[in-house]
Amino acid sequence: MTAEENRYDVIIAGSGLGGLLCGVLLAKEGMRVCILEQSGKAGGCLSTFHRKGIDFDTGVHYFGSMDPGQPLHHYWDYIGLAGSVPMERMNPDGFDVIGFEDREYPLAMGSDHFIECLHDCFPGEKKILEKYMDELEEIRKSFSLYNLELPAGDPEEQYRGKSAFDFYYTLSQEAVNPAFRSRILSVLSGNNLLYAGSRERTPLHIPALINHSFISSAWKPVGGSGSIVSSLLQKIRESGGEVHLDSEVTGIGSSPPLFTVRTRNGNHFRAKNFISAIHPARTLELLESPLFRKSTSARITGLRNTYSSFALYLVMKEHSFPYLDHNYYFHKDENVWDEAMEAGWPSGYMLTTQAPATEDGFAKSMVILSPIPYSLFSRWEKTTTGRRGEEYDAFKQEIAERLLDLVEKRFAGLRSGISFMEISTPLTWHDYTGTPEGSMYGIERDYNNPPVTNILPVTKVPGFYFTGQNINLHGVLGVTIGAVQTCGAIVGLDFLLKKIKGL
Ligand SMILES: Cc1cc2nc3c(=O)[nH]c(=O)nc-3n(C[C@H](O)[C@H](O)[C@H](O)COP(=O)(O)OP(=O)(O)OC[C@H]3O[C@@H](n4cnc5c(N)ncnc54)[C@H](O)[C@@H]3O)c2cc1C
Repeated sequence: MTAEENRYDVIIAGSGLGGLLCGVLLAKEGMRVCILEQSGKAGGCLSTFHRKGIDFDTGVHYFGSMDPGQPLHHYWDYIGLAGSVPMERMNPDGFDVIGFEDREYPLAMGSDHFIECLHDCFPGEKKILEKYMDELEEIRKSFSLYNLELPAGDPEEQYRGKSAFDFYYTLSQEAVNPAFRSRILSVLSGNNLLYAGSRERTPLHIPALINHSFISSAWKPVGGSGSIVSSLLQKIRESGGEVHLDSEVTGIGSSPPLFTVRTRNGNHFRAKNFISAIHPARTLELLESPLFRKSTSARITGLRNTYSSFALYLVMKEHSFPYLDHNYYFHKDENVWDEAMEAGWPSGYMLTTQAPATEDGFAKSMVILSPIPYSLFSRWEKTTTGRRGEEYDAFKQEIAERLLDLVEKRFAGLRSGISFMEISTPLTWHDYTGTPEGSMYGIERDYNNPPVTNILPVTKVPGFYFTGQNINLHGVLGVTIGAVQTCGAIVGLDFLLKKIKGL
């Protein structure tokens, strides 16, 4: 490559949702964009893998707020994804069902309907449900970018310092029927695999913004989340951007005003702006000179990560399992928090059948996810996929059987309907996305210390930015808003928001 050929306006490390969205947003502004991805496939958690004729979703099973007028729809409409990604609206009477051994509870779409449906399960407790929805609405209004407004500071900050568990707990204590107290608490936070929450640290705004977005409207990708990746890649390339696969970033050098980014395959790329769309701790390991203060680096590398997951990807025999238009979350007991424990694993799981259904309403495939601690697999950390050894394979199989045993208690006969099974462990995520400890959602936010656990898109190094699930929030909506924050820092947030709003 000549010096001119490898010179860009912005280099982005990582082609997950965060990196790809920044690529589209900046390429749309006429910037020369170059995305470097370590894997041979773009998309990170958005990628699918193909087995026995099925595209399996790995890290995106559903997303919220996609009705016209809702935040994700606004952002994706501007990006050009709203009409180009096949998706299916989930069951309005229960997009998530929260199950315990004795009973199941639907989480319905639309505030009033959500309240009505849970009120049927908890007669006399309407006040609690109304208070819950009012608080979610209040929090959503306080986070400006969820309303396509410029951040106003204080209202957002106050929620970052509030405990989610305390909020749920205090609310549940208002139950008129004392028998409902712990059950209301566990049902309202029953899909907490969505935010991998620990009761000691999770800030209130995380479950609030995520649950609000799904209650607004919940959608499944049809045919796999890979269509989101293809659509974003096409838009980047149409605007003159480049995406280099098999290009692991191994070094980031800075000689102002340029960054020089080196890849394992021996190439180097230069740009005035560098966006890291990979885990911040990994990013710091790649710096060729200490760009950040020692205290900043120590803070970031010392942060705790959210827990990981164990997943079963199942191809089902014909007519063996009904297609579910909702996700099913099961909990062995009412402590739905901190389920990623070694003792007594598994404590719960999420089961989702993939769209589309067969014509006669059966599932072709499904994914079962369960929270799991990395420590169970860390002894194989230095091994690579396919070469971890017989002991690992046997352990993985044993763990899978334990999970299937639990699932069969609710879905009797499920095993006999399986025609093929693939398993992923925390090591799969660790190797595949480069996330420390195979963490699902990256850095764990802590309401006890918000400034320390919040990574900002803008850094003290001019031209050096972060994006992806470690800033703002994880998940499709959280990462989309994070990409707008990062790109807004480069081209002007006010300017970008006006364009998104069509002003
Ligand atoms: C099991 C699971 C289920 C989930 N389910 C949902 C869901 O149903 N709905 C939802 O909204 N969200 C879900 N999420 C969360 C969501 O998928 C993520 O928050 C989001 O996709 C993260 O995007 P990202 O761009 O920040 O990171 P990633 O997708 O992790 O992308 C990072 C990219 O950087 C690349 N990379 C890393 N190191 C380097 C390097 N040195 N050089 C070059 N490239 C590098 C990686 O290969 C990867 O492609 C789920 C996540 C998991 C793990």
